[in-house]
Amino acid sequence: MVKIGGNLPGKLAMKWDSKIFRYFKLEGKIIAVTGTNGKTMTNNLIGKILRDNGNTVITNAEGNNMETGILSVLIKNCTLSGRVKADYLVFETDESYVPILYKMIPLDCLVVLNFFRDQLDRSGEVESLILKIQNFVENYTGNLILNSDDPNVSRLGKANKRNKNIFYFKVEKYKYATKELKEAGEGKFCPFCNTRLIYDYYQYAHIGKFKCPKCYYGNNQLFHILTDVDLENKTFKIDEKEYKTQFNNIYAIYNIAAATAVAKRYNIPTESVMKTVANFVLNNGRLEKMLINNCETTINLAKNPTGANVSLRLLEEDPENKELLFVLNDNIADGKDVSWIWDINFEDLEKVDRVITAGTRPYDVAIRLKTSNYPVERIFPCETLEEAVEELYKTQGKKYVIANYTSVQPTRRELIKYKEKSDEKNERN
Ligand SMILES: [Zn+2]
Repeated sequence: MVKIGGNLPGKLAMKWDSKIFRYFKLEGKIIAVTGTNGKTMTNNLIGKILRDNGNTVITNAEGNNMETGILSVLIKNCTLSGRVKADYLVFETDESYVPILYKMIPLDCLVVLNFFRDQLDRSGEVESLILKIQNFVENYTGNLILNSDDPNVSRLGKANKRNKNIFYFKVEKYKYATKELKEAGEGKFCPFCNTRLIYDYYQYAHIGKFKCPKCYYGNNQLFHILTDVDLENKTFKIDEKEYKTQFNNIYAIYNIAAATAVAKRYNIPTESVMKTVANFVLNNGRLEKMLINNCETTINLAKNPTGANVSLRLLEEDPENKELLFVLNDNIADGKDVSWIWDINFEDLEKVDRVITAGTRPYDVAIRLKTSNYPVERIFPCETLEEAVEELYKTQGKKYVIANYTSVQPTRRELIKYKEKSDEKNERN
């Protein structure tokens, strides 16, 4: 039996006619979220903020973020006459589909988070991707919400001088910001005059406070600023008001900055936004926490070097001893080329007692670890996920799990299976 859901209805319709998008009568403001990392979290948080404030919202919350995925959502939510009615339609959108899709459907707000190397097989080089979006925004006059701390994103604000709806957000320097670039990153040169950018500090990868010494690119007029980020207490401030969050990493804080900037743009009352942000959690393997066999376990998706480096940084910032399970698949959706793992910063695995590797390429990760001088006797490559999870819980203590795109859900299922088994056993004892 064919399961109807996900991309399938969209795929069928696209075969019929790609101009089908023009058939819909979309009633409601369309907000699109794009960028390499953090789309799903930001998209879901924007949707939740709007919904909690009493709006009707349609989203592609499962991350079906290409043309066909969005089309499926529209088909699912439209009347027979093609009417789609909601206060807001919030769509996580793959970077390469932004110019295609929003030529066909009217966009009220485009949120751009960041640009990193990601799935090169499908998308082409980062620069050509940025140029595609730049071409799109040259003729776009809707709201443009941009990460001011990413030179690759911030440049989009200069693409159309006629657009008066450009809104920059930023996160002020936090405790673990560094003076030097720590991880693999893009965008170290000025996009306008090609001079090397000067950074006051880096928050992570190439995200930070930069300026061009020659043309002064980097001084944006800011619309929205997050300050006093305190990851230990999971708090930050906006306009001197203290917000609480369930997240304790800078990567999520940037997503929250983007989502709260959207909330501000659409005049959602602060009290309502604060409440939603304080309660917002993810249950999809993106920084999800579970208690398994009495071990605190944190699971995170990492589909590119930056994502992996941010995840590894969480391990570094955690003073306790811990173990890591790293799962790497090389399916088509992951990109067949796994050479990106050589851009992962495995050099700082202090207080990581063991690393277990799994997925379709467990030995690639093991070799990568070995060349970063991690002691080989503490690396455990496993051929199956079941074996890997068994190995992980042979010891007590904190566990971290990092998995790439197609491996995150199978890994999560295996962890849940193990959890249920061990919960049952512990109850009996
Ligand atoms: Zn410059």
